[in-house]
Amino acid sequence: MPKISINIKSGELEKGQPVVGIDLGTTNSLVALADKDGSPRILGSNNDVIVPSVVYLNEEGKALIGKEARNMLAEKPESTIFSVKRLLGRSYSDLKDHADYFSYRIIDNDNEQLVQIEAHGRYYNPVELSGMILAELKEKAEKYCGQKIEKAVITVPAYFNDSQRQATRDAGKLAGLDVLRIVNEPTAASLAYGLGLNPEEAKNILVYDLGGGTFDVSILKIEAGVFEVLSTHGDTYLGGDDYDRTIAMHWLNIAGYDYKNLSMREKQALRLLAEEAKMAVCSGEMNFNSSFEIGEQKLTCSLTLQQLEALAEALTQKTINSVNLALNDAGLESSGIDEVVLVGGSTRMPFIKKRLAGIFGTDKINDNLNPDEVVALGAAVEADILAGNRRDILLLDVTPLSLGIETLGGLMDVIIPRNSKVPARVGRQYTTSVDGQANMKISVYQGERELVAENRKLAEFTLKGIPAMPAGLPKIEVGFLINADGILKVTAQEVRSGIKQEIDIQPGYGLTDEQVEKMLLDGFANAGADVAARMLQEAKTEGSQLIYTVQRFIEKNAEMLSEMEKSQTLQLSEELHKTLNSDNKDDILGATDRLNEFTRPFAERLMDEAVGKALRGNKIGEI
Ligand code: AMP
Repeated sequence: MPKISINIKSGELEKGQPVVGIDLGTTNSLVALADKDGSPRILGSNNDVIVPSVVYLNEEGKALIGKEARNMLAEKPESTIFSVKRLLGRSYSDLKDHADYFSYRIIDNDNEQLVQIEAHGRYYNPVELSGMILAELKEKAEKYCGQKIEKAVITVPAYFNDSQRQATRDAGKLAGLDVLRIVNEPTAASLAYGLGLNPEEAKNILVYDLGGGTFDVSILKIEAGVFEVLSTHGDTYLGGDDYDRTIAMHWLNIAGYDYKNLSMREKQALRLLAEEAKMAVCSGEMNFNSSFEIGEQKLTCSLTLQQLEALAEALTQKTINSVNLALNDAGLESSGIDEVVLVGGSTRMPFIKKRLAGIFGTDKINDNLNPDEVVALGAAVEADILAGNRRDILLLDVTPLSLGIETLGGLMDVIIPRNSKVPARVGRQYTTSVDGQANMKISVYQGERELVAENRKLAEFTLKGIPAMPAGLPKIEVGFLINADGILKVTAQEVRSGIKQEIDIQPGYGLTDEQVEKMLLDGFANAGADVAARMLQEAKTEGSQLIYTVQRFIEKNAEMLSEMEKSQTLQLSEELHKTLNSDNKDDILGATDRLNEFTRPFAERLMDEAVGKALRGNKIGEI
């Protein structure tokens, strides 16, 4: 058996294994690695530093990633997937208010399951698509390092919830990466400036991140090398693109031209010209002058920095409002902030820095590093620490193996991921899978495999006496609390009735270091195949749940449906049923999609929420 040297207590790895830092961004992604002396650098050369976070899928299901994919955006909008990060770990109901933002088809399955994207009759989930982007970054890192890269730290926004973080980890696994840690982007940005590396330091940091399409501000507190997020605010649909649009609208207004009358191509070209003007004036050009042709008409396109600042004042003010809200939530005055870190290409607009300097003082602003690179650089610093290369930094106790529970289909749902710092407390909600389910078995497992059968069972208990409710309605909160001594307390509580059950477990009990190593190695070796198997299992579970709820729905509401509707529903259900025995995820998801599309109007028409509700949340089977 190959040996991996891992300190079970600290999570430290064998020295010398490169661990890269990855900024998996909404628009662009970057990968960085720390040099021997600990200084991080972005991997890539001149034109090859940034990998656009775009995936183009052709008719045969082959994918192009990065720049090549981005070039397909205008030509093949329906099969060029951009902004996949916005979909990670999200359900359709999370996204429906912004559905017109996306030019590709996101399956509206009217429930809380994670979204799927359809392109040329194939179904993809955001984890797979992000996995493709990560695989591209991995390959690039290998090319620039001249050695295999298998370990990474990946950054996510501070506001990412548990399911979005888990989705990011899974994407890493699919790409063949062992994700040592998921790090908050503002934490990474601070690390890039060396903030938080000195254990003596105690500071409050405000990280202002204005990118192309998203804005967020986070306030962090660092003490003894530990980062705590005090507050976050922002707008996930505000960024440099909005500044571009404001400039374009200004030019159109002057000419008295209606934006609506522009073709898609013209809109796109005008936005690009506006972006060019913005960058020019922000980079020191006094006066940008150009023109733009719309049919016979010639639009004068000029811009100065003062004009831009005035035109975009409402946008800038919106970001400042978020800064104030974040301060308020953190219970701090502006004077309580010790450092301000600027992240994202749009912080190159000089008036942004001016506004922040006005609030916090010029000397607190950290903007020496390239704002596009700072998150990846910081991820590489964290990676270097986890690789055990920085003796000056103490690693806190971590959980050596992931801890989770069994969900429908025998899947492992990780609640506390491997390498989490202890003590740790995580809660997650589950629901029932059949109507009137009174008992729920909570089976606790440890290990890195996606199917619980391959992991180590730690304990099992039953939450009894759940009040009779339709499937999907009960809210069962499962809490994992692991204390500093490594004792795990698992609780399960039905939120409405308050019934509760709990158990104490010693996860490490009876396991030798060799056994932990073996479990880790098995996990790494099977990671990609395991995630694929889980996605297939999830598709099967979703399909059979849909058959179940549709059946119940028809039983209850038979008289309200026509014969044709009933027989068509039956036929579509049967077709779906047949696919469930296959191992073809696309067939299952296709049949699920068709049954969903056909039956959704019934539920809407009958104003009965049973179909939608019953599918909500992660389910645990009846016992
Ligand atoms: P990011 O998502 O962090 O890569 O940021 C991309 C955004 O930064 C885009 O909206 C760009 O137009 C904007 N940007 C990049 N460089 C500049 C610049 N010199 N001046 C103003 N905006 C810029």
